[in-house]
This record gives sequence, C-alpha cells and structure tokens, in this order.
Amino acid sequence: MKLSHRITHLTPSGSDGWEVFYRARQMVAAGEDVIELTIGEHDIGTDTVILDAMDRAAKGGHTGYAMVPGIQSLRESVARRIEERTGVPTTYENILITPGGQSALFAAHLAACDEGDTALYIDPYYATYPGTIRGIGAKPVAIQTRAEDAFQPRAEDIEAHAKGASSLLINTPNNPTGTIYSRQTLDGIAEVCRKHDLWLISDEVYDTQVWEGQHLSPRALPNMADRTLVVGSMSKSHAMTGSRVGWICGPADVVRHLINLATHTTYGVPGYIQDAADFAIAQGPDLEEKIAEPFRRRRALARDILARHNAVGLIPSQGAMYLMLDLRATGLSGFEFANRLLDAHRIAVMPGESFGKAAAGHVRAAMTIDDKAFAAALETICTFAESLSK
Ligand code: PMP
Repeated sequence: MKLSHRITHLTPSGSDGWEVFYRARQMVAAGEDVIELTIGEHDIGTDTVILDAMDRAAKGGHTGYAMVPGIQSLRESVARRIEERTGVPTTYENILITPGGQSALFAAHLAACDEGDTALYIDPYYATYPGTIRGIGAKPVAIQTRAEDAFQPRAEDIEAHAKGASSLLINTPNNPTGTIYSRQTLDGIAEVCRKHDLWLISDEVYDTQVWEGQHLSPRALPNMADRTLVVGSMSKSHAMTGSRVGWICGPADVVRHLINLATHTTYGVPGYIQDAADFAIAQGPDLEEKIAEPFRRRRALARDILARHNAVGLIPSQGAMYLMLDLRATGLSGFEFANRLLDAHRIAVMPGESFGKAAAGHVRAAMTIDDKAFAAALETICTFAESLSK
C-alpha cells in the first residue's frame, strides 16, 4: 500500500547524526558499561509527592475523559504562573493543556501555517523541529547562528529569510546550546516578527533551568502577546517527562481553534495526570528549584573542570541541562569526536551535527548523571580532546 508523502518524508533519509546515540544504546544492550550523556532526561524520577497526588486523583476516580481544553483548575494555575513570571495578563482562556510540549509544538505550527507555507527555525535546533514543521505540511527553513555569537541569533539573519514566511520558532533557554537569548536578541526577533507579520512560536520548556542571567519570555515584549504562541511543559520543570503534560499559551481566539484541533487529535490529557500537574505547580518555585538544582551544581563543576583544560571550549551554558562543548581545536567534526570518544572511553555524547549545521565541531553533553561520575566523564573528555589536539 502507498503511504503518504507527508509521513514518509517527515525526516530525511541517510545520516542524521544520531548514529552515535544508537550505537551507544546497542553497546548498553550488549552488556557494556557506557556513560550516557546523550538524552535530556533527569536522573531523578518524578518526585514522590507528585506521584502521591497522581495516585490520589486516579483512585479518587479522575480516570474518565477529561475536559478537552484541560481541567479548569490546571488551566488557571498555568495562567497564573505565566502571569506571575512575565507580568502579561493571562487567564485560563489563553491556555490549552496538551500531552507534553511536543504536541504543543505540532499544534502551534498547525495553527500558524497553511500547507506549503515557510516556517522558520533556528539552527542548532531541538531534534524534532524540522520534522514537526514538515508534519503539518509547511516548509522548514533553518536560520544559522554562530558559535562566536554563543549561538544567539542575529536579527539580520532572520530578516533575510522572513519575507513571505508564516512563523518563526525559537527556544530559550536553548537545547542544545544552553544559550539564553538576551533582551537585545529578543527585541531584534520581535521587531522582525512585527515587520513581517510572523507568528512567533516560543519554546520555553526550560524556563526554570536558568544558571546565569534571566529568562525573558518574548510574549512580554511590546505588541507581541497577540502574535506569540508559548510552548510550555511539566517535563523539565517538574521532572514529569513520562507524564506527557504541557501547554500552549496564546491569544484566546487562537486557543479556541486549538481546542477544536485537540478535539480532533488528542482528545485531552488524562485527568489524574492533570491533577498531579496542578498539585506540582501549587508547590511553587521551591520544588522547581529542587528539581533544577542538580544541573546547577553540575554546571558549576563543569566550569571548574573546563577552566583547567585548553582543548575544550564551553559555550556559556547559561541554562538548560546541557553543555555545548567546542572541540574545533581537535580538528575533528563533532561526529568523529563523539565516535572516537565512545570507542576509546565508553562515553556517549551527542555530535553537534545532530542538531543542524551551526554546531559542527561541537558535542552536546547532557548533565544527567550523578555529580561524581559526571565530573570524571568530563575530565576524560578534556584529556582525550587534549591528546587529539597535539
Ligand atoms: N522542546 C525542547 C527544546 C525539548 O528539549 C523538548 C524535550 N526534550 C521538548 C520541547 C518536548 O518536551 P515534552 O514533549 O516532553 O514536553
């Protein structure tokens, strides 16, 4: 049977830079000890207080179909949290609860783009971005950033591609680079969006993982609330990756259409999961800080270790759970370095090339193993890079 072009061309065929990851997983399956610094998943599980709330909700009977837009209480909690953090007036009518940030990214693009429209995104990028854009029938166009700018996008580079485009997808704090977009960067982005009438899709799933500076939501910039769709999630802020609960925050009339879309796609998020998310948000910033703390600690450890070595440069890593390591001094591509590192030391990192062109010659290390093992792995990466640079 013939399958649709849409689904068979979601991701391009051939090498995509994920080979190192799959090879590491095969080695683990074969019983080898591999130190995995690949995927963005906390090494702590979901906090037991949240699991207890989930258990209470499920056993209390919240296991039937939940309201498609999200339960009222969670929509209100998310709106309040956003208003408190950004100062932008926000009500439940601005919020659709989604099964995680990924489905919010898909829905936001479906709302912003028609078939064949151009949807812009920033390179390096989170792995699913181009496939998400292709999936809704639009054309993904990458805007390159530069390592020497610490991967902050330049407004003029976006401007060069903006004419006729429908949307621009950004992500701050950024996966994979750890960069937090500055006020100046975001002002420039907002100006291009207003000038070219672009929807801004702002992926802020790492908004609680800020190590340096401040996270600024572009929805709070002048005249941006009407054209910004913010993607949020409980995955990273509350270590609830497997619970699949996130949201879109946007203008109320857009959210009404998105609710209609949800009726025809997800039909909502399980009620007991939403109750647990609502409980988790009600715990306030203390719980969020507790969950972010291991990454804050490891990032400080990493800076001390990298300061003692020359062959590895660190993109400032202002936020998120990753380090972007510059290995260009070795003369190797990120892909070659990651493969050699895996063979020589059984340490798995992601080649920068798996996140697009802009991070070539870099690797991304997730800070997702315990402090001691993480520090030891980083020391090994540094001395290995030094031996290759000689
Ligand atoms: N955006 C970014 C930048 C991510 O890194 C991820 C997950 N790694 C997501 C969105 C999706 O997260 P989820 O669907 O778990 O909310």
